Amino acid sequence: SRYFTIHSHPQGLPKRDFFALQSQTLPELAAGEVRVQNLWLSVDPYMRGRMDGVTTYVPPFTLGEPLEGAAIGEVLESRDERFTPGDRVVHMGGWRDVAQLSGDDLQALPDIDVPPQTFLGVLGMPGMTAWVGLNRIARLQEGERVLVSAASGAVGSLAVQLAKAKGCHVVGIAGAPEKLEWLESLGVRAVSYRGKDAQQLSADLEAASPDGFDVYYENVGGDCLEAALDNIRVGARIAVCGLIDSYNAETPTPGPSNLSRLLIRRARMEGFIILDAENWEHYPEFLQEIGPLVARGEIDYRETIEEGLERTPDAFLKLFEGGNTGKMLVRL
Ligand code: NDP
Repeated sequence: SRYFTIHSHPQGLPKRDFFALQSQTLPELAAGEVRVQNLWLSVDPYMRGRMDGVTTYVPPFTLGEPLEGAAIGEVLESRDERFTPGDRVVHMGGWRDVAQLSGDDLQALPDIDVPPQTFLGVLGMPGMTAWVGLNRIARLQEGERVLVSAASGAVGSLAVQLAKAKGCHVVGIAGAPEKLEWLESLGVRAVSYRGKDAQQLSADLEAASPDGFDVYYENVGGDCLEAALDNIRVGARIAVCGLIDSYNAETPTPGPSNLSRLLIRRARMEGFIILDAENWEHYPEFLQEIGPLVARGEIDYRETIEEGLERTPDAFLKLFEGGNTGKMLVRL
């Protein structure tokens, strides 16, 4: 098996050679274990936090041990009666080509006629995050005005489409011109944050939604949050999903200078973690609602794919440079 490790905690955005590719001969399967050939690996922004050596809501990666992450693979060999060779499974033994895990740590892929890797993206953790953040945290209502940051990413691109489906006026913040074009094609008013300070971004958001926003789906933080706070309506709800702007910060980042807007506008800001039981227990409901839409091609989901295990660190680092549209994946 070949796998990636890290050997220290990164300062700022790690470099490509920060990640070491290692190999080992796997021991014979113990009772209850399953060997899986990975086909698709997920890289996700939260993995950056696991490299810092401190426990947040997930334990940190162990230096020198294989990194972990969501993956989809095919069973090669099994000593768990629930799995047989050829079964497609999803599990957390990513960042490697062959994973050997307890059968308890594997899930069979849901029985929906879609490409398997969608269970790492639009029908997996990121899609579920968009759905929970909008419905349960922001309590989005029909016809509201919605702002989404990192709107062309895995989470953001489903969030904007779910909001459109509710008849909302949707504004999305993204970087590159082709991302803005994609968002516009979905009926979203797209605003670039590139080369703008919070004030300029705030003015552009105001132009895109002169009556402000009832809901802000926050993936970024920093200037996006400040510009959004300027434009929230009375009673607005801000779902704090992610703050990717600060994940590689080397010093603590200052809070928004206009936090008073939260008070003046009687707004509510709430963070959430998708893997908390109270959120994740709704996964079957999510699959029932969104699965058929994806299967029928009614959700425009996109993927950015890097080829080969060796490219996993490159795929991961691209998340912080805007190198992905939709879900960032590695195909083995
Ligand atoms: P994305 O597919 O959205 O990839 C990250 C994107 O963020 C990039 O493509 C880039 O797009 C944008 N970005 C990166 N750095 C910056 C920056 N400094 N300023 C503005 N935009 C930036 O990733 P995901 O969809 O997987 O995750 C989106 C967010 O959701 C993350 O913050 C993540 O941590 C969070 N999350 C939270 C979960 C929870 O349980 N709360 C679960 C899953 C995800 P662009 O070109 O537009 O800059």
